[in-house]
Amino acid sequence: GGGLPDALHPPAVSTPDSKGSDGDGKSSDGDSPEKLRMRSADSGDDEADTAGYLRVGVRVRPVDPKRGGATDEGLAINGKKGLITFKDNKYKFAHVFSEGEDNGTIYEQVGRPLVSAAMMGYNGTLFAYGQTGSGKTYTMVGDRKESVPGVMTLGTEQMFKWIEDDTYRDYMVRVSYMEIYNERVRDLLNPSAVGEELKVREDKGGRGFYVECQEVVVQNEDQIYAMLDAGNELRTVGATDMNAQSSRSHAIFRLVVESVVKKDVEQVGTAEDNAFRQSYLNLVDLAGSGERTKDTGAPGSHLLNLSLSCLS
Ligand code: ADP
Repeated sequence: GGGLPDALHPPAVSTPDSKGSDGDGKSSDGDSPEKLRMRSADSGDDEADTAGYLRVGVRVRPVDPKRGGATDEGLAINGKKGLITFKDNKYKFAHVFSEGEDNGTIYEQVGRPLVSAAMMGYNGTLFAYGQTGSGKTYTMVGDRKESVPGVMTLGTEQMFKWIEDDTYRDYMVRVSYMEIYNERVRDLLNPSAVGEELKVREDKGGRGFYVECQEVVVQNEDQIYAMLDAGNELRTVGATDMNAQSSRSHAIFRLVVESVVKKDVEQVGTAEDNAFRQSYLNLVDLAGSGERTKDTGAPGSHLLNLSLSCLS
């Protein structure tokens, strides 16, 4: 959610014509800068609704056949209603995904609206939370060996498609990729500094923390994929125990999106609609939660808090 002053949160729209709104609050498949500009800010579309809210979705992972288990008896998933029922208990979420749904489906529902919002100047954060082995890295980073793209890749793809399609604004995208591991912040984009701890500064205005990590300007998707690959490699190198690594390491992939109206277009809408826009989009693979926190001392709530305050 938020973080920036209101002036940097311009409305999603600039014209009174709201015909483009589908208003069903569902997947915004086929979003384009043009289509979204034609929507009304109060039409209840996902993009406008996302600002300032926390939404929780649940993804149920398939049971590993090697471990021979079956889905818990008494567990029922209703994706349409966003409902998980376990015996007599009902739990309601913004989204519920069953075992059969892939990263692409999840991205369409929870990732795409956030990326669209980021392109329009709204901050957003998407993080995966859950026990080690529950599929956080699979969802956020993906599985290269199996050619399964994760949210970080799918988000990058959408972002550059948007930039290509937008005939009204010019964009600049900067990325950083950092890891919080054993209470140390490492820069995953700077191999020579691996092992070095990054400085974390508190903002004077009390609005949050800044991490002095490298920010790289990127021109295309391929540059981002190369950085993600190199960063993911660094994330695992030096880990003495892979399991311990993945259960204690938070990976934060941050995109900073800035845009201005193109020089050669005729401006429509208010001055605010045409202002410079800047937004932060954080895509986060959090450390495992819940298990063995007592004997390992990690990843306790302190670490989680540290990472979340870094995002604020
Ligand atoms: P975490 O990051 O939460 O510790 P991982 O993403 O590493 O968990 O997932 C553990 C294992 O389960 C990996 O081998 C991963 O490929 C597999 N896995 C997780 N979710 C899925 C899924 N939805 N479909 C297929 N395999 C999955």
